[in-house]
Amino acid sequence: MTERTDPDVADVIVVGAGSGGLTVAVGLSRLRKRVLLLEADDVGGDCTNVGCIPSKSLLHHSAVWPASGRSTGAVLEAVRRRRTALRDHEIEEFGSTPGIDLRAGRARLVGPGSVELTESDGTVRMLAAGHVVIATGSRPRRVAIDGAPDELVVTNEELFELDDVPSRLVIVGGGPIGLEMAVAFARLGTRITVLEAADQILPALLPEAAAVVRRSLERQGIEIHTGTVAHRFEPAASSAPAGTSAAVADPAVADSPVPGPTPPDPTPGAALPAPPASGSLHVGSPGGTVTSVIDDVDRILMAVGRVPNSGDLGLEALGVALDTTGRIVVDGKGRTSVPNIWACGDVTDRGGTTHSANAWGRRIIKHIVAPIAPAGAEPEHPAVAYTDPEAATIGEQRVEVPADVRRLRVAFADVDRGYTDEVDDGVIIVDVRRFSGRILGATVVGPRAGELISVFALAMKNDLPFHKWYGTVWPYPTYAAALGQLVDDYMTATVTGVGGEFVGWARGRLRRRR
Ligand SMILES: Cc1cc2nc3c(=O)[nH]c(=O)nc-3n(C[C@H](O)[C@H](O)[C@H](O)COP(=O)(O)OP(=O)(O)OC[C@H]3O[C@@H](n4cnc5c(N)ncnc54)[C@H](O)[C@@H]3O)c2cc1C
Repeated sequence: MTERTDPDVADVIVVGAGSGGLTVAVGLSRLRKRVLLLEADDVGGDCTNVGCIPSKSLLHHSAVWPASGRSTGAVLEAVRRRRTALRDHEIEEFGSTPGIDLRAGRARLVGPGSVELTESDGTVRMLAAGHVVIATGSRPRRVAIDGAPDELVVTNEELFELDDVPSRLVIVGGGPIGLEMAVAFARLGTRITVLEAADQILPALLPEAAAVVRRSLERQGIEIHTGTVAHRFEPAASSAPAGTSAAVADPAVADSPVPGPTPPDPTPGAALPAPPASGSLHVGSPGGTVTSVIDDVDRILMAVGRVPNSGDLGLEALGVALDTTGRIVVDGKGRTSVPNIWACGDVTDRGGTTHSANAWGRRIIKHIVAPIAPAGAEPEHPAVAYTDPEAATIGEQRVEVPADVRRLRVAFADVDRGYTDEVDDGVIIVDVRRFSGRILGATVVGPRAGELISVFALAMKNDLPFHKWYGTVWPYPTYAAALGQLVDDYMTATVTGVGGEFVGWARGRLRRRR
């Protein structure tokens, strides 16, 4: 059925009810703007449904397994219940927020303030508003593997729907998503091999930080091949279906009610069919040479990056500028190249995390409400891989620092809390401009890295020079006390080696001028 009605009118139309879109819709509704919030799929977007929430829930559940007494299948079920409960809560909350009119359907822009919404029964509605905010997110990039049956290869969109853990999982992609899942599934008894095309896992990290994560993952039994890609898959000669779980398979435990506060799942995720058979994955250099064969592979997780959801939105016809990867180009206010069309989150060239989608969403709210307000600089956004150990960064990540920058590091093993907790690996690195104390970047790889990096985020946002951290009283014995050790080192070097520090600073200044 196709029907066109007079346009429904609002102050702002937000396309996509995920991390970025919800931030914008809620913020504007609180400022008494009427918002039409359009969602083609599940409210909450990737983060709630197939991203941050199920992945962190799985990390949690796998860390307390097998003490939880659940079967591995029940662990996956518990993750789905947790996810679905949050999604239901979000549907209820945002569906009843005054000022937000949540509509289901796929949106397409047909004019600067004009959006066409196609509902699931084919009804097409015209919507109009003074501003349109695009927050349509991204989807997983898929790379074809010769011979691999479709049902063998999953992405984050199907992974959490498995009814049990694979026996042998190959993860293509050694970025945060792939490695977090490597940790979780390895804890649940799956044999894991990670393939990474670059010459280090977590390529955005300093090599020494990535090496800490790699050492730890290998100690956890995870096999890692860098400089390696998947070439082809060959099914095993036997057509017997692959066993799925090598871990706890006690049916009494599997069928028992899930303990704890997790509510029942009213709409359990559809379990994927078991793959037809396991087989061998031939892997090797990106150039094409096969260097090894991984046998008995019964699942492949594709985690090789993201593709922005910018197609089919009518953007080209409107002249909205995209970069070469298809991401929408936005300015410091979150504006696209077309007036009154805004964008935030993964669909833009400034996205990639939920906190970035939230931050840019907040900017858009500010500039829709106060158009003449200056954009101001956007603070550095931290990035965290929730591996074991966690790895977190903020700001510049230079392999070598110039002469006017002092690189300070403290090993977790040299911090008393690291000693008591028997942490023998991991490091905090901070790059500080000599004399001025300006923090340029930091890396934390070790316990609670995601929490520790937040201290740097606060200081960098507020231009708090490193020497002003001196005298802060850090609780003992915490990992945060390591930050006090770093400041002491900085002060000692600056005060005792003032001549050398000055020469280094001057050399760096001169080089930067040239
Ligand atoms: C496995 C995994 C783990 C992750 N873990 C973390 C983490 O720990 N921390 C973190 O910060 N980030 C994490 N991320 C990234 C995070 O999920 C994304 O950066 C974030 O969800 C992006 O928000 P967004 O608003 O841009 O898109 P989304 O939250 O994905 O929302 C986009 C919404 O737009 C809808 N949509 C698309 N097209 C249309 C259309 N035409 N009409 C109507 N609606 C449409 C989609 O259905 C979707 O609901 C993870 C991602 C993955 C895949």
